[in-house]
Amino acid sequence: MSEFQTSHTLKDRIQIALNDDFLRNAVKFTTERLRKNKQAATEELGNWEEWRARGQEIRSHTIANLDYYLSLFVKNARAAGCYVHFAATAQEAVDITLKIMEAKQAKSVVKSKSMVSEEVHINHFLQKNGIEVVETDLGEYIIQLAGETPSHIIIPAIHKNKEQVAELLSREAGKPLPADTAVLAGFARSKLREKFLQADIGITGCNFGIAETGSIVLFSNEGNARMVSTLPKTHITMMGMERIIPSLEDLEVMAQLLPRAATGQKLTVYMSVISGPKRLDDLDGPEELHIIILDNGRSNQLGDPEFQEVLHCIRCGACLNACPVYRHIGGHAYGGVYSGPIGAVLTPLLQEDKKTWGELANASSLCGACYEACPVKIPLHDMLVYIRRRNVEEGLPPKSEKWGMNAFKKIASHHKRFRLAMKAARWSQKFLAGTDGITARIGPLKGWNMYRIAPKIANRSFRDSWDHLNQELQQEKADISSVQSRLKEMLAKRGEKDES
Ligand code: SF4
Repeated sequence: MSEFQTSHTLKDRIQIALNDDFLRNAVKFTTERLRKNKQAATEELGNWEEWRARGQEIRSHTIANLDYYLSLFVKNARAAGCYVHFAATAQEAVDITLKIMEAKQAKSVVKSKSMVSEEVHINHFLQKNGIEVVETDLGEYIIQLAGETPSHIIIPAIHKNKEQVAELLSREAGKPLPADTAVLAGFARSKLREKFLQADIGITGCNFGIAETGSIVLFSNEGNARMVSTLPKTHITMMGMERIIPSLEDLEVMAQLLPRAATGQKLTVYMSVISGPKRLDDLDGPEELHIIILDNGRSNQLGDPEFQEVLHCIRCGACLNACPVYRHIGGHAYGGVYSGPIGAVLTPLLQEDKKTWGELANASSLCGACYEACPVKIPLHDMLVYIRRRNVEEGLPPKSEKWGMNAFKKIASHHKRFRLAMKAARWSQKFLAGTDGITARIGPLKGWNMYRIAPKIANRSFRDSWDHLNQELQQEKADISSVQSRLKEMLAKRGEKDES
C-alpha cells in the first residue's frame, strides 16, 4: 500500500506528492510530451476547433436525450444477442458481475483497462470472493502488481520509472530482470498470454456504446482489449450510462477527437466495434456478452444546468495533461479513481461524502486550461466554482476560512479600510521580507512560501501611483500651456515691431 492510500487528507497527499521529486518530474515530463503530441496531431488535422464544436454538439444532443438513446442502445444490443443489465450503484454492478461468474463457475478473469471498473472497485471485490483477476494493459498490470490505483486516466503508471517496473516484474518472475523496456514488456507479454488462454471471463470497459446498432466500441493500443473480448467464453463490458453516442457517423467524429486529445495519435492502434457475441459462422469471439450499464450518481446530474455537461466527458485525459495542479502533484494526491480537473468535478458529484470530496474543487487555479484542452468543450473551470459555492452553502469549509473571507470582504469593499490595511501590511513586511520577497513561513504564508517566495507589497499602491501620474500629467499640461502663451506673446510683440 502506498503512502497516498494511507493518508486521509487532501493536504497530506499533496504534501507527499510535492516532496517526491521523481514523481513530479515524471508527471511533468510525460504530460508535456502528451501535450506536444496533441498539439501536433490537432494542427495536422487543421480545423480542430470545428471538430471540437461538432464533438460538443454530439455529446450535448445525446445527453439531453439520454433516455431515448439509452433505450435504443439496449434494444439493439439485446437484438444482437447481448445480455444487458442495469446497475444503480457500484455495489449492484459488482454483485451482477459476481452472479455471472457464479453461473459460469468462473475462477479467473482477465481485464482490459477500464476506469468504470476501477470506479466500482471490481478487482478487490472479485478477489475477496476467491476469483483471480489479472489486468492485461501493461500500465494497469504494473500498478496491480504494486497494489496501487491508476494515477492517470490514460497512462495509469505515469509515476513509475523503468527501475521500479523492473523490481515489480522481477518479483513476479521470481528472478532479477534488467531495467530494459523490451525485456520487461517481453516478460509481461508471455506472462499475460498464459492468463488470456486460461481465463474464464474477460472484462472490458466501453469507450462508446452506439445506439443505432447496439455495438460497443473499444479503443486500445496494446491489442489486449481484443484478446480479453475474444478469447474467454464470456465477455462482460462495464459502461457508464453516459457513454452512448447515436450512430456510427458520430463515431467517426469521436474517433478523430479521442485519440488526438488523449495521446496525440491519429487513431489508436486498435479500434474494435463489437456487435453481440460470437455468431454461428464466426471463427472466434465469446459465447456470451453481458453489458452492465452503471448509473452510480450519474443520473443525478441530468437536468442540472450547472453539472449536466460533466456527462459529456469521453475520458481522454487531456484536461489532466493541461492542468498546472495535476502536473505538479500527479493523480494519487486526488485520492479518488478520477484525478485532475475532471476528477475534481466528477468525484464530489458521484460520491455521497461531499465533505471529504468537495474540497477537491480547491485543487485548481481556475485558469481554464482544462476547458481549452477538452475535445468536447466541457467548462470544468465553471463547475469547479459551482462546487466551491455549494461547499460554502453547505458550510463545509473551516470556520477560519469563513472568517478570513468575511474580513477580506470588509476591508476590500471600503477604500479607506483597504488603504489602512495596506499601510499596516507594508509596515509589517519590513520584518518578514528579504530583498527577493516575503520568505517568512508563518500564518497563511506558510504553505505558499514552502515552494516559492511571495512578492513584496509595492511601496506605492497602484491608486497612489495613478494619482501621482495624474498630478504629473496636469503639471505637464500646465507647463505646456504656459510655454504656448509665452510663445504667442513673443510672436505678437515681434509682429508689432515689424509693422512699426
Ligand atoms: S473533461 Fe474533457 S479533457 Fe477531461 S477527460 Fe473528459 S473529455 Fe477529456
